[in-house]
Amino acid sequence: MTDNISARASEPETWDSRLEHYRHAAVEVLARHLRTGTRCQACGQPWPCRAACAAEATLEL
Ligand SMILES: [Zn+2]
Repeated sequence: MTDNISARASEPETWDSRLEHYRHAAVEVLARHLRTGTRCQACGQPWPCRAACAAEATLEL
């Protein structure tokens, strides 16, 4: 993972803190959106649902 340290000092809200917020939200989404058979138990979409896909993508950042 690339990390621009020089940009961190100039920004009041750092990318890292935002990323931490997104990751925390993603973990909560993944805790609710669970696979049951071929569907998501939270939203009923065919697995993997959009919320779970987005959350997993966020955790890969
Ligand atoms: Zn879902």
